[in-house]
Amino acid sequence: MGKVKCVNCGEMNPDILTNCRRCGATLPNRFGALQVKICPKCSRSNPAGRSTCLYCGTPLV
Ligand SMILES: [Zn+2]
Ligand SMILES: [Zn+2]
Repeated sequence: MGKVKCVNCGEMNPDILTNCRRCGATLPNRFGALQVKICPKCSRSNPAGRSTCLYCGTPLV
């Protein structure tokens, strides 16, 4: 578990939070990027749990 610094107030928040516990600003949550996979072939977003693209069947990395 890491820490995410609020860009608004500078509070260090646990990175499981999506909003700052001090001021409520949206945090740059690194897990947000992991919730989708972008297909390398068709560039559409797939749920992170997918191993192949929902749309074209290309294997996702
Ligand atoms: Zn804040
Ligand atoms: Zn695709």
